[in-house]
Amino acid sequence: MTVRETAQKNPKGLIGKAYSFAENAHRGQKRKNGEPYFNHVLLAAETLNQWRMDDETIAAGLLHDVVEDTTVTEEELKKAFGEDIAFLVAGVTKLSRIKYRGTEAKAENLRKMIMAISQDLRVVFIKLADRLHNMKTLSALPQPKQKRIALETSDIYAAIAYRLGMWELSGELQDLAFPYIHPAEYKWLNDHVADEYETRRKYLELIKPALGEALSKAGIKPLSMDFRAKRYYSLYQKLLRHEMDMSRVYDLVALRLIFKTIPECYAALGIINNLWRPLPGRIKDYIALPKPNNYRSLHTTVIGPDGRYVEIQMRTKEMHDENEFGIAAHWFYKSRHIMGFFRKKPPLGETLAAGLTWLRQLREWQEKREHDSISSEEFVESMKAEFFKDRIFAITPKGDVMDLPTESTPVDFAYNIHTEIGNNAIGSKINGKIMPLDTQLKSGDMVEILTQKNKRPSEDWLKFVKTSIARDHIRTALREKRKNMLEKRPASKIEMHLTLQNRLGLTKDISGIIARSHVHITSIQLSGQSSGNFSSCRIGCETTDKGKIEKVILKLKKLKEIKEISYKLV
Ligand code: MN
Repeated sequence: MTVRETAQKNPKGLIGKAYSFAENAHRGQKRKNGEPYFNHVLLAAETLNQWRMDDETIAAGLLHDVVEDTTVTEEELKKAFGEDIAFLVAGVTKLSRIKYRGTEAKAENLRKMIMAISQDLRVVFIKLADRLHNMKTLSALPQPKQKRIALETSDIYAAIAYRLGMWELSGELQDLAFPYIHPAEYKWLNDHVADEYETRRKYLELIKPALGEALSKAGIKPLSMDFRAKRYYSLYQKLLRHEMDMSRVYDLVALRLIFKTIPECYAALGIINNLWRPLPGRIKDYIALPKPNNYRSLHTTVIGPDGRYVEIQMRTKEMHDENEFGIAAHWFYKSRHIMGFFRKKPPLGETLAAGLTWLRQLREWQEKREHDSISSEEFVESMKAEFFKDRIFAITPKGDVMDLPTESTPVDFAYNIHTEIGNNAIGSKINGKIMPLDTQLKSGDMVEILTQKNKRPSEDWLKFVKTSIARDHIRTALREKRKNMLEKRPASKIEMHLTLQNRLGLTKDISGIIARSHVHITSIQLSGQSSGNFSSCRIGCETTDKGKIEKVILKLKKLKEIKEISYKLV
């Protein structure tokens, strides 16, 4: 049901109330393109509805511009809809004041944005739905504004959507921004690709019946068979990697098959690869091994009739939906509290660890920045370096995604799951194979950590770990290890008997040698009965490391005045 239908069916409900409130507040207002302003907020709310957000978020979506653009105040909104919705709207209002331009002023705004992000993810979702519609109507704005908003969309919002696993949205935002940021390249693509798109689409249309027949012979019926045209932005990126050679882009237009079950997807893969010869190395099983952002699908590229390459993608309806609205929205069902986690106490640990670590990092940087009074420029630099740089996503055997910096190792992975798993790690299996703990992980690796109770980390780990979480925990554990060694190991008590040739300062030399070997002297007794030049001496010592005693004895024997030496444990 659409938002409009919900509102009409139940005008007294939360969504119905928000609908009429927003409609009244924006009455008479027009967008730059001449449409009623209310259309904009309604379409943003419809998008949130498609992402299956909760009623509060959809209501806040309808209301997201009333404080900014009408006479309604935050107080009035609070009275009418309560604290939570007013909070969400205030968050979006704050975000809408942020302008990304690459200057010092931007950094301050970016900072505010980050805080807003950190407070409630739903604010971000509303902002993304708002931005999506704004991008669709961007042509109505004056040119300099278009470019700025397109840049902001590409650099900030598409990146955020990507991090949240909203793959489709991220791609769509990039695509909408592309013509404004790279007009010349866009024109080139249009001139060179538009015809090719059409040719390839027609070709797919042509081979579709044969495919449908082969599937139905095997008793499999897809829920749908659609075309997916590659987005201009990702096509452009791909062409840059392939010397702008269009013939090397096989998935310009792909055939997308949706099935009811996973076995049907695999069965279809077999049927297709049997019908047409598959291209080696192009069969991709993102169902068994999802992409970094949890994208799941089976891909194969086959050589169709007339020797033309065709990419065919198979997935279930559930996967298709998930690819559309992302990991974050998926979590929304699993653990609703994650949405508001920064407003309450952050539930650090298993729920937060998976994939959302970067949000926590943003917050930590923010605190650090305030604490160390780092300049805004520096802050943005480190933000860019950390937040936008390539990260890798490895998965646990249970399918949870770990978001890690590149070159991370199984040790980083282990500590990002849980401190104890890191501390107790003795080995790792990567994609089912036993691999050393310093192996550099790649995106898509499935990592299993082998543990042993009471195992402690090794000092060597510090040489290769990449995350500060791992480094900090290793250091802490090593400190504890040392402390425990000193405290817990029972000290051995030894008594040495030495026969000495008297010399001035000899006792000092002896005690010096012992002390330098980290053996603790508890007593020294020189016996009175000396015969001529000789005397005997009894030294009580303590050490936690028995191996050191032998060494001390060897060193003492080198003193020519020591004529005889023996020891016993006491
Ligand atoms: Mn808006």
